[in-house]
Amino acid sequence: MNKENYSQTHQNEPELITKVGSLQELLEKASGVRAVVDHEMEDAGLAENIPFPFLALVGQNQMKLSLLLSLLNPNLGGVLLIGPRGTGKSTAVRSLVDLLPEVRRSLCYYGCLEEDVEAGGIDAVCPDCAKKYGQGDPLSKMEKVRLIELPLNATLEDVVGGLDPRAQAHSRLRLKRGILSRADRNLLYVDEVNLLNDQIVDAILDAAAQGQYTVRRGAVSATYRSHFTLIGSMNPEEGNLRPQIMDRFGLRVLVKGLEEKEDRMEAYRRTRAYKENNRAFSAQYAPSTRLFREEIQASREKLADVELPDGVAATGLELIGRLGLDSLRAEITLFEAARAHAAADARDRVVPADLRVVAPMALRLRRSTYIDQYIADQNSEAELLEEAVNELIPTEEEAEDE
Ligand SMILES: [Zn+2]
Repeated sequence: MNKENYSQTHQNEPELITKVGSLQELLEKASGVRAVVDHEMEDAGLAENIPFPFLALVGQNQMKLSLLLSLLNPNLGGVLLIGPRGTGKSTAVRSLVDLLPEVRRSLCYYGCLEEDVEAGGIDAVCPDCAKKYGQGDPLSKMEKVRLIELPLNATLEDVVGGLDPRAQAHSRLRLKRGILSRADRNLLYVDEVNLLNDQIVDAILDAAAQGQYTVRRGAVSATYRSHFTLIGSMNPEEGNLRPQIMDRFGLRVLVKGLEEKEDRMEAYRRTRAYKENNRAFSAQYAPSTRLFREEIQASREKLADVELPDGVAATGLELIGRLGLDSLRAEITLFEAARAHAAADARDRVVPADLRVVAPMALRLRRSTYIDQYIADQNSEAELLEEAVNELIPTEEEAEDE
């Protein structure tokens, strides 16, 4: 952006986006909107917990796109943001709060849903819900997806749940729900996932993969639904993530600092304006944010109809083959992300261009050097074995000749 343009946009009202062709277009347009910074604005008083608007984040398109795709398609396996401190990873994740779509949520303690009856018959729900279903009463209601953040100091007990101390005081055994059960159908954000204790990471990843988990404490046990979208972030300077854990995240985005001077300046201005008056700053983006949220909801509903043509799938498989990726998660993430990308672009068919956009996020950092080494070791072992066998053990023909 040149200088003239820059000062001109400052004098005008912030550009409002009122109509867009697709989510992708909206994302591009909105990220370029210059905010008006009025330093005379009245102080909002006590700092409220108003997140930085997603649409006010400067640049970082791959990070924004990955988060957006994970909102559209919970089946792509979540997102891992990898980058140094101060690159806006946590800010971006927390800003999703204003964009979260609505989902069907159970009214029952056991988490029964209408879809359970549709899939598994009336015995798939608890007796109360079976009765309700029979009477035509709803088992669920629409509710906004929540962003649940795992506290850094969470214990395994906090995460999966444990015996309820209040019930124990009355000599009764009852389980208290953990963070994972509350994450059902929500987003679970784990900052500094590389610093988390292995047991906790395993519990989270297992629950995420299976969509449910069981807690046993002595005589009591309970199974909770926990189908959630996992978003992790990490600073690789502070420690590695085990390769097998890295592989379990769907999309992987390398987040770098902004490179263009103009972008850095704009990011600075926006951060300052937000700090001075977060409510007024956020209000400037509110109309575009509302539009964006509606687009997300609509795209999410369209996702089920998005088809993956055989030809496009074949190209994807060829790509995975070329890279020599063993993990089956490569296909799942690549194709689910491509479907989400097509839905975001208001299409009902995946095209090769979708693969091109999502492939770097879906396939990078999936090559495990451990696995490569393992296979190389196995191959050389097999050769050695064959050589030794050939040398030492005569074939039947050879044996007959003697
Ligand atoms: Zn129920």
